[in-house]
Amino acid sequence: MPYGYDDQNVFAKILRGEIPSRKVLETEHSLAFHDISEQAPVHVLVIPKGPYVTYDHFAQAATDAEIVDFTRAIGEVCRIMGVQPGMGGGGFRAISNAGAAGVQEVPHLHVHILGGRVLGRMLP
Ligand code: ADP
Repeated sequence: MPYGYDDQNVFAKILRGEIPSRKVLETEHSLAFHDISEQAPVHVLVIPKGPYVTYDHFAQAATDAEIVDFTRAIGEVCRIMGVQPGMGGGGFRAISNAGAAGVQEVPHLHVHILGGRVLGRMLP
């Protein structure tokens, strides 16, 4: 199996309620909570509830319902946190680190939503 899922990772423990999180949103297939080490005034992590390691794993293995739910959860978090650029918010950055080159620390898919300040250029 190309993608092994380690169910002892910290986000799996949050999903099981074994460790606390500061919840922003919960839907049928997704959970969003504040990052414990905020890098910007808005720093929320959005995760699927299913056992997916990276975004490409999710895109390959998740159901259509999970993908729709996760995508809409990301949009809803942006609305809740007031960072929607088309709705008077200041904008945001969505990042998902994957694998060794992406320097992924937690092996459960998560999208970082960062905002609340000008983030600076990320790409040259
Ligand atoms: P990196 O640490 O290089 O950004 P990731 O993309 O895997 O790697 O991000 C993991 C994120 O999870 C980090 O931003 C970290 O602060 C956050 N984090 C780790 N443990 C917790 C926790 N218990 N609750 C909330 N966020 C956490």
